[in-house]
Amino acid sequence: MVKEGYNGWANRETWLVNLWFNPVTAREVDYIRETLESDFYDMVGESNIYTDMINFNAINWREIIDNLDEADATCFYCDSDPEPNGFKVIESDCEVDCCAECHQELWEVE
Ligand SMILES: [Zn+2]
Repeated sequence: MVKEGYNGWANRETWLVNLWFNPVTAREVDYIRETLESDFYDMVGESNIYTDMINFNAINWREIIDNLDEADATCFYCDSDPEPNGFKVIESDCEVDCCAECHQELWEVE
């Protein structure tokens, strides 16, 4: 049986994004996710052979976030250290770290 994936990643697209950007925080991953595709279209144009050859939907953003070094985890919202009272919250379908202050501000609204 042929092993699926690429170098231990879901596919080559996901592996490439992690290799080139080597993100440290979930916030960085989110920034790449927001800018990569529009940067690409700014460079090559809207509709041509290059746009037809690339598939941004293949990138597994969740896998990239799941592979971030936990020791370097920072709050997704303010970049501070989420320990010792941090939370995990779902942002754009991905689990990210959130410090106690941001969690209170964003999720514990009375
Ligand atoms: Zn925070």
